[in-house]
Amino acid sequence: MSRTLADELWFYRWFSHLGWPRSYLGKIFLLGFLATHLPLLSLVGYFVFGPANISKPTVFWLVLLATLADTTFFLWALQQLFKPLRLAMRALSVYLNEGQTLQLPTHFQDEAGLLLGNVAYAVQRFEQRRVALEQLASEDFLTGLLNRRAADDRLQQSLRLATRDGLSLGVAMLDVDQFKQINDHFGHGVGDQVLVTLSWHLKQLLRGSDWAARWGGEEFLIVLFSRPAGVETALERVRTSLARLTVVTDSTEVKFTVSIGYTMAQPNDQPQSCIERADKALYEAKQSGRNCLKSHQVEVFDG
Ligand code: GH3
Ligand code: MG
Ligand code: MG
Repeated sequence: MSRTLADELWFYRWFSHLGWPRSYLGKIFLLGFLATHLPLLSLVGYFVFGPANISKPTVFWLVLLATLADTTFFLWALQQLFKPLRLAMRALSVYLNEGQTLQLPTHFQDEAGLLLGNVAYAVQRFEQRRVALEQLASEDFLTGLLNRRAADDRLQQSLRLATRDGLSLGVAMLDVDQFKQINDHFGHGVGDQVLVTLSWHLKQLLRGSDWAARWGGEEFLIVLFSRPAGVETALERVRTSLARLTVVTDSTEVKFTVSIGYTMAQPNDQPQSCIERADKALYEAKQSGRNCLKSHQVEVFDG
């Protein structure tokens, strides 16, 4: 629990540490009892311990002062005792409105404490499910890479980042060569295995800031934060490393190659235009006999 949240509950914590009354309702009853009886108790105390000849104005002022002091204390204590409820309410609204989770105390045993614990548990479970669902919605089922929907968003983000920070960004499209033949010869199960193995190696071959996604079928999008020479070297390494792989399944061993087309992003480039240029380069790579890397750059007109 953060320092401020812990501070807010000091009276409730202190009251709970007394150990009695154990229940939340009991705590309110005790406060109510004190509130209604303190003026009477003060009067009795005054009669017992005070001077014998007590005047009417003295009794009046004594009862008035005791009532005022007691009412003030009761209202203050009641407000303190309501803090766990307000905290539970705040935790829910902060989560629902801002998506933030507050660290609530979960060790109090009365009704308000249980409410705090249950709210903390519900928010935590809800958040876990939300993260899991979000991951499920953005992940390709077969390969575990980003799916096309998520890749589109991420490409947009990467392009914005590159424009904002003046970074050099390469966008590449990779396609497995003659994949239909692999499916036809070895079956779709083996084809799937090729895609899974390729994806795993692709992830290992990329640097931390670079990323890959399954664009669809046997096509993969690769985004690299590097200068043109670095992009070319990295993609060439991807191509040759994948060509050296042997995918071993229960029934067979398969080798495969890939063709890659890439382009360098321009300032204020859009995902669509980058993908189109990378696709053109990929087409050129296929036309050039496959298992190769081609680039398609934006033409710059002088004058
Ligand atoms: P090219 O070298 O020109 O790219 O030829 P290709 O055979 O790789 O391309 P084509 O587009 O003719 O075939 C792609 C095949 O990929 C067809 C489709 O059935 C297969 N495919 C798409 N998604 C999957 C998948 O998830 N699993 C498997 N096993 N096959 C898939
Ligand atoms: Mg293909
Ligand atoms: Mg294809």
